[in-house]
Amino acid sequence: MNNKHLKEFKDRLAIEKNRLEKELRLISKDSLEKSQSEMSGEHGYEDNAADMATTTFERERDESLVWNIKDMLNKINDSLSRIKEGTYGICSDCSQEISIERLEAIPYAENCLRCQSKKT
Ligand SMILES: [Zn+2]
Repeated sequence: MNNKHLKEFKDRLAIEKNRLEKELRLISKDSLEKSQSEMSGEHGYEDNAADMATTTFERERDESLVWNIKDMLNKINDSLSRIKEGTYGICSDCSQEISIERLEAIPYAENCLRCQSKKT
């Protein structure tokens, strides 16, 4: 991998990181507002079952979304530190170079296609 590629991936990862962090802030702000309005809401504890179910569903959906985003952010942070260390683009299992095509599709890929397909 040459420096030009490395810089490109670094930029892409940084952009993606910003986007995800923004999304994460929006979701947590959103669910904070939701829980605050639930507490001070007119309905109080008299919420009907349907409302409760919707709220639970939304919260669970938010939680899995947050989980996904955090997972992705971890991978991106890992990739960014691998760029710093100079090990970016190297498969963490077999130490072979990950193809540029694969990194272009998934810039935070940790494994080469061969190792990844073994895992799934
Ligand atoms: Zn590999």
